[in-house]
Amino acid sequence: MKIEKLELFEVPPRWLFLKITTKNGITGWGEPLIEGRAATVKAAVEELSGYLLGKDARKIEDIWQLLYRGGFYRGGPVLMSAIAGIDQALWDIKGKLLGVPVYELLGGAVRDKMKIYGWIGGDKPSQVVEHALKRMEQGFLAVKMNACAEMEWIDTPHKIDAAVALIDAVRNTIGYDKGLGIDFHGRVHKGMAKVFMKELDYLKPMFIEEPVLSENADSFALLSSYTSAPIAAGERLYSRWDFKRIFEQGAIDIIQPDLSHAGGITEVKKIAAMAEAYDVALAPHCPLGPISFAAALQIDFNCINAVIQETSMGIHYNEDADLLDYLTDPEVFRMKEGYIEKPLLPGLGIEIDEEKVREADREGHAWKNPVWRNADQSITEW
Ligand SMILES: [Mg+2]
Repeated sequence: MKIEKLELFEVPPRWLFLKITTKNGITGWGEPLIEGRAATVKAAVEELSGYLLGKDARKIEDIWQLLYRGGFYRGGPVLMSAIAGIDQALWDIKGKLLGVPVYELLGGAVRDKMKIYGWIGGDKPSQVVEHALKRMEQGFLAVKMNACAEMEWIDTPHKIDAAVALIDAVRNTIGYDKGLGIDFHGRVHKGMAKVFMKELDYLKPMFIEEPVLSENADSFALLSSYTSAPIAAGERLYSRWDFKRIFEQGAIDIIQPDLSHAGGITEVKKIAAMAEAYDVALAPHCPLGPISFAAALQIDFNCINAVIQETSMGIHYNEDADLLDYLTDPEVFRMKEGYIEKPLLPGLGIEIDEEKVREADREGHAWKNPVWRNADQSITEW
């Protein structure tokens, strides 16, 4: 079961896929990626491959520890995303070798189906309402939208009122029997977050995400006094040690580790167990591709505190390619009445259309997130 080959594919709209092949011909797929830094993570995986070639692919925990602790410096988005993609591929290999889905290797499934939410894009009330109606037609039981566009460090009541009106329009469209997640996207600073959260409270959000950036998580306790909504964060935290801080502060309600950023299945399973001990729910972040989404689902089916799963299916900024485009059988991700059924195929539960991936890699991508500036041309958060 020796690891023989690692291959990387940069595919539209903005993803990086990893294929690991073992000497006896079993292959596993992973998605090591930081959005906008695909080439950097690719270089990190290539550099780490020296630790992997010739190793027994079944020794996932040992390999994880080797990649994490073996290099003296550890943590952060680049290294943890490189480890994440490698880890996903190793779990895929192990599942295929033993003929079972990954969740079986983690202790089995705790649920039969997993609720997912869809994104709502648009900047005008008419656009968001149209988009919300489409999501309802598709059968989603929950949606998420960005709270606002750019927000100055201290901004005007008008800006807040306009943002609340947009969210109000969506809430009125979907009704109160559906979940409405509101993502501040780290765009809002503490002074405005207080004002904004108080104004939004009557709309009963399913959660408020990244009310401020995770590096300012010490403000979550103060901010949660301005809302009755659960506070969610964690897409920009990369390990148990990053999450430890926010669990200890006690103000987080939902963590959102990303299976492609936070050390993969091995690490997120442990982060989820820590969260359970703090009575915190899990909602893995996933605006990424099919492999990352498949890895997230494996965790969701095994972790009791997993409440809802993000998906990039039909997300507003992936125009050139969609999650389903790289699968030989997109039916594995078919949503039924707001839920995805338990995956049954071995490993990550998907089959990658390798020919399509190789073709897409020839095209590649150079995706970068937008850079926003305020009226005075100072940089502001996207
Ligand atoms: Mg977010």
